[in-house]
This record gives sequence, C-alpha cells and structure tokens, in this order.
Amino acid sequence: MFTEKKDIKSFTLQELTEELLSMGEKKFRAGQVFDWLHKRGVTEFSQMTNLSADLRERLDGQYTIVTLREVKRLASAQDETLKFLFALPDDKVIESVFMKYKHGNSVCISSQAGCRMGCRFCASTLGGLERNLTASEMLEQIYRIQELTGERVSNVVVMGTGEPMDNYDSLVRFLRLISASEGQGMSIRNITVSTCGIVENMRRLAEEGLPVTLALSLHAPNDEARRRLMPVANKYALADVLAACDYYFEKTGRRISYEYSLVAGENDTEAEADALGRLLKGKNCHVNLIPVNPIKERDYKQSSFKNVLNFRKRLEKYNINVTIRRELGADIGAACGQLRKSHLDEASAQGETT
Ligand code: SAH
Repeated sequence: MFTEKKDIKSFTLQELTEELLSMGEKKFRAGQVFDWLHKRGVTEFSQMTNLSADLRERLDGQYTIVTLREVKRLASAQDETLKFLFALPDDKVIESVFMKYKHGNSVCISSQAGCRMGCRFCASTLGGLERNLTASEMLEQIYRIQELTGERVSNVVVMGTGEPMDNYDSLVRFLRLISASEGQGMSIRNITVSTCGIVENMRRLAEEGLPVTLALSLHAPNDEARRRLMPVANKYALADVLAACDYYFEKTGRRISYEYSLVAGENDTEAEADALGRLLKGKNCHVNLIPVNPIKERDYKQSSFKNVLNFRKRLEKYNINVTIRRELGADIGAACGQLRKSHLDEASAQGETT
C-alpha cells in the first residue's frame, strides 16, 4: 500500500526526536538530522554523512525532504534586489524576494500559494487561494535563497503572497523552526508578520511567546473606506482590529507597524490623513506609507509624490512616527504576486494555444 512520506523538515526537534526514537534510534541522532536539515540545508538523506547508510536508507523510505526548485530569477538593475519564482514539490509556484539593507539581508516570503482575502489592489489574490504552504515550504524559501546567493539572511518579512493568519498553524511552526537555536537561530525580533487583520489569530499570536513585529494592513481610517479596498473588513470591524493590535503590543511589548498603501482618490486625502492621525494618536506605533503599486487588472493609481509627502506631514502633526516605503526592485515588479501572476498567465496562454 502506498503511504505518503512524512515532511521531515516541518518537524520540531522534539517531534523529530520522537520519530527517531520510534525507529529504534538514539536520541542524539535527531540532533544530527535537524542540523543537516536546518543548519546546512541538505536536500537528500545521502548527504547526511555522519549517519549510517542503513539509517539514511530507512529515513529515505519514510520521509521526504521538501525542496524548492528555482523556476525564474529577476535581478533589479537599480538595486541588488532579487526576485525568485520557486516551484513547490507539487509544481505550484510561489515567489520570494531577497533584499539587501545596511542592517543585513532580508527575505520576503510567501505564506500561501495564492490568497483568498481579495484585497482590491493586490495581484496575489486575483486567482484565489490554491493552497496553504507547509512550514517546510516557508523555511525553504530562506534556505534556498541563502544557498543560491551565498548570502546570509538575518531578517524575514512574511509579506509575500498569502495571508499568514489564514495559515496559522504552519506560520507558528515556521516561526518556532526558524528561531530554533539548533537550526538557523534567527532572532524572533528580526521577523515581521503582516496581516490584513484576522482578529482571533492576532490575539492567539500575542500569546505564543513569539514576539515578532506585527504589521497590520490598515489602508483606510474608517470601516467604510476600508471595506471598499479590503473585503476582510466586512468581517472584522476596525475597532476590533485595532483592539487586537493594542492587545498584541500589551502582551509582547512590540510596537505595531501600520501599513497604509496610498491609492490616488481612494484613501489619500488630507481629511483621511487627519482621520488616521486621530485614530492612531497616542499609540506606540509606526506608520509605513506605501505608494500603491498599480496592477494591470485594476485601474488604481499611485498617489502623487506631493500627496504622499503631504500625507506624511499631516500624520506627523499627531506625533506619529511615519516612513515612506523605499521601493526596492520596482523595476522587476516586486509588488505582491506580480511575478507569480504573470507566470500563471503565460502558462495558461500556452495551454490555450497548444
Ligand atoms: N496578507 C498579508 C501579507 C501580504 S501583503 C497582509 O495583508 O498584510 C503585504 C502588504 O502589501 C500588505 O500591506 C498589502 O496590503 C500590500 N500590498 C499588496 N498589493 C499591493 C500593491 N499593489 N501596492 C501596494 N501595496 C500592496
């Protein structure tokens, strides 16, 4: 009978220990396997040279090492940003971005193949949700990029395709694995998770003992305007989303980052800046203004630079810390989901003609 092989890279060290003990192996073997998988990023059991050939074979019979395959790479001519299109083991595709900053290298990872949140300006959601990613597939985006670039990654933002709070269990498993001292040992403080505001899971995350920076995609200062841009706002009222952010700050001491994509004529007036200022005044937070990256399927336009600067100035009057997101890799369509979308469009066009 065919039984599916287990995804060994998604096991925590403790779980892996139980697996190896049940195979009749000694406990320390789990540490060796974990080290190969998470520190050295091997892709085959045959590479685990400190294990006996017999054990390597038995592992190979029961487990699979999830590995991503590079399908395409775009390199920015303006900066050192790289965008990768990776194929998952079942050939679905996702994208990840590598960015260089003065403080270290950062990778933006996807948490789902596609997305079901439906934000009006976002390319990732146009084809709906294909499936959740496993923790190993989230980790692999970082491991593969380190391997392919030869660079060390110190920061991760879960801001690529997908809604991480809609894939909560894999997200938490991923966070535990990437920060495990026996593996990459990445500092939880160097990780940012961005959400469109799924209230119950924001509250759950506050209690996991994993104090990542939480970024909340706000994009409007009131329910009515927010509902026009983000269907998820029909489910969760702004007041409840902000209360969950306050709770997150209270529990973790981590300052919330509010993201606000500026869309000409939709959410970028002075009145909206003032409303946002009143909403966030007195909170220990940070606002990140993102001039919207237009996608061809919608006719949303970027706010003018003058409007963006003006919006920031108005907000600063409320003593709010504001930055305007520097556009890295703008020439390679680094906005959410654009590379994946164009790849899927090409694939389906080819399918029609052949
Ligand atoms: N689902 C999560 C994370 C992925 S999107 C979330 O909603 O936060 C990461 C950020 O990019 C979000 O703030 C999202 O609203 C924003 N975004 C998506 N498409 C964009 C576009 N075309 N231009 C500007 N920002 C965009």
